[in-house]
Amino acid sequence: MGSAEGARRIGHGQTFNCIYCGLPQERIRTLDDDWRMMEPDMEPLAHTVPADHRWIVLSDGRAALYGVAPPDMFQRCRIEHALACPKQGPLDLWPWLTAMREENGRKAERGPEPPSEPDEGLPEVG
Ligand SMILES: [Zn+2]
Repeated sequence: MGSAEGARRIGHGQTFNCIYCGLPQERIRTLDDDWRMMEPDMEPLAHTVPADHRWIVLSDGRAALYGVAPPDMFQRCRIEHALACPKQGPLDLWPWLTAMREENGRKAERGPEPPSEPDEGLPEVG
């Protein structure tokens, strides 16, 4: 917003077209010598991005996951193109919720549960 910081082009990676949607994405090397395809020209506030998907580009051009929790309110980050790709996803950002949705889907298909049978192992009384 008016600062010189905002006017510079983000990132230092090469641009490739996504094999799924054809849109450009920026290839950036990570700290552990992997490569990630980032959404170009996009730096959302870190707290608006799910944890584990917030990438910070360091001064040497490599990207690292932003591990500060809770994130600094003004910290911006990069996101992978896959999060925004119209031909991929939605990605499984919360696997336990996905598992719960699938289990609930199976429950819904089975219909209402029958009332539970009394336990067989009830102690003998009298
Ligand atoms: Zn894509």
